[in-house]
Amino acid sequence: MPKNTHKADTLCTTLGRGDHPESGFVNPSTDHGSTFLFPNLEALVTSNAARLDPKRVAYGRHGTNTSRQLESVITELEGGYAARTTTSGLSAITTALMALVKSGDHILMVDTVFDPTRHFCDTTLKRFNVEVTYYGAHETDELKLRIQPNTKLIFLESPGSLTFEVQDIPAIIKIARKHNLITMMDNTWATPLLFPAIKRGINLSIHAITKYIGGHSDVILGMIVTDEQHWPQLLNGYSQVGQSCGSEEVSLALRGVRTLPLRLQKHGESALTLARWLQNQAEVKTVFHPALDHCSGHAFWKRDFNGAAGLFSVLLAPCSHAQLSGFIESLNCFGLGVSWGGYESLVLPVDPSTCRTAAPWAEEGTLVRISVGLEAIDDLIDDLAAGFERMKSH
Ligand SMILES: *Cc1c(COP(=O)(O)O)cnc(C)c1O
Repeated sequence: MPKNTHKADTLCTTLGRGDHPESGFVNPSTDHGSTFLFPNLEALVTSNAARLDPKRVAYGRHGTNTSRQLESVITELEGGYAARTTTSGLSAITTALMALVKSGDHILMVDTVFDPTRHFCDTTLKRFNVEVTYYGAHETDELKLRIQPNTKLIFLESPGSLTFEVQDIPAIIKIARKHNLITMMDNTWATPLLFPAIKRGINLSIHAITKYIGGHSDVILGMIVTDEQHWPQLLNGYSQVGQSCGSEEVSLALRGVRTLPLRLQKHGESALTLARWLQNQAEVKTVFHPALDHCSGHAFWKRDFNGAAGLFSVLLAPCSHAQLSGFIESLNCFGLGVSWGGYESLVLPVDPSTCRTAAPWAEEGTLVRISVGLEAIDDLIDDLAAGFERMKSH
């Protein structure tokens, strides 16, 4: 049994194996099910009375014992009270927001948020009369001025999508508490290992399991972890929208958890080596990586995070389309594709100018997001070096 003195690496191997290991196997069973049978009437009545029990299983749509195992690991690592698995990272965000806000409310959304979250705010939330103000990732004092009588929630994502600004999370939590606002954070980049958000005072922490926790590019899932105070409201909202995840996916995610500490360490080390190397290349204008001194919010990252993940971006000096495609298409180790956090390295040209309003993006040159996989670092460097050579020849 796990002890509460155990470190996160140990918890990743000991938690979520199941409360009833009568099968004898190390792993919990992968439950396929709709109907859940109660042994007698009293058990049914007791279960109905215990709706708020985070471990309750009563019908397949609300999750199986397999989901409860995955939720228990992530909850413990986050320092949360309870969690629910969702069909995707995006659905974790939309479900959590819908569960906690109502028509007439106002929310403060970080400008560097994952673009589909912004799109949901600007369309669906707007349609339901929820007002959204985007605040700059570095605002703290200015953030206070944006609070209105109907402000309900501050949404954080740190580091920010595409550009990796790190927020002053403790200062924002302090402001939120003073004004009785909920804090919700997209914690996908750090995972609970590099930033146990709820332990640090965030109310609800959201993960795209799809990324590092799944880790093998074979699963789409999300997770909402909450503190005790917001659990009843979250569960209520979650149950109403019909979220339901397949147990095969949940099992794959649970398998990912077992090696998460090891993978994240390698992703992080390789990414930092690569980021430092890229900084010295003539084709590169600047590198956005929270562990580099010049990256905005670097001091906050150093103070608050347990390390860096393997996702960052690099701003290439202005170049022609032919040069850019010469570079990207010549790469062997880096695939061209969306998503990140898998074992394989990826590159993706991105354009923050289409998804920033509080602090418009005005950098010249092409921003390329890099997800560093588990390949040998020398091969990755050689691959990018050869790519830059190809770029010159165009
Ligand atoms: C990918 C991503 C999501 C969404 O996850 P999906 O499983 O693809 O829906 C949410 N937040 C961040 C920061 C992401 O990178």
